[in-house]
Amino acid sequence: MAILKVAHMGHPLLRAKALPVSPAEIASPGFQRLIDDMFETMAEYSGIGLAGPQVHTSLRVFVAGVRETDDVETMDDDEMPLVALINPTIVATTNARVHGWEGCLSIPDVRGRVPRAESIRVSAYDRSGRQLEINASGFPARVIQHETDHLDGVLFFDRMTSLESLTYMEEYRRYWMKDEDDEDGDGDGA
Ligand code: ZN
Repeated sequence: MAILKVAHMGHPLLRAKALPVSPAEIASPGFQRLIDDMFETMAEYSGIGLAGPQVHTSLRVFVAGVRETDDVETMDDDEMPLVALINPTIVATTNARVHGWEGCLSIPDVRGRVPRAESIRVSAYDRSGRQLEINASGFPARVIQHETDHLDGVLFFDRMTSLESLTYMEEYRRYWMKDEDDEDGDGDGA
C-alpha cells in the first residue's frame, strides 16, 4: 500500500468529469491496489472521504467512512461505514435540504456550511463488482453527495448558498464546533 499525493484546489483534475470504471476493470490488481491506497491515504490525512480525482486518478470511484461493518446497505445513522463505491449515481429521496459543515482534503483547513439532500438512494458497484442499492440519510448521505460531486468536478464551495460561513479550521474550532445546528460533529475533510 502507499500514501497517495492529494490534489489541492486549483488542480485542473478536480474540475474534470471523471470517467466510468468498466465492470471488468474492478477486479484488476491495479484497480484493487488503487482502492487500498485510497483507504490508506484517507486514513493518513484523517479524512472521511476521498475521491479518485483527489488522488490524480480521473475515475468514478471514491472511498469513505469511519467504521468497519459488513452492513454497508444500512446508512441511516450518524456514522459512515467504510465503503468503496464505483460509478455511483444518486437520487434524492426527499426534497428536504439540510445545512451542515463540510471540509475537503483538497481544500485544507477550511470549513463551510453546505446544503445537501437529507436522504438519497445510491446505485453503485462495490469493490467486488457487486451492484449495490443503498439508502442513506443524514451524515452518510452528506458524505456520499460530497464525494460524488468530486467525480463531476464539483467542489463544496460550489454548493454553498452563501459564503458567509466560510471558516478557517482554527476559527471553526473556536467559534463553531459546538454549534447546535452542526449535525456533522467536527466536520472532517472529505
Ligand atoms: Zn472533498
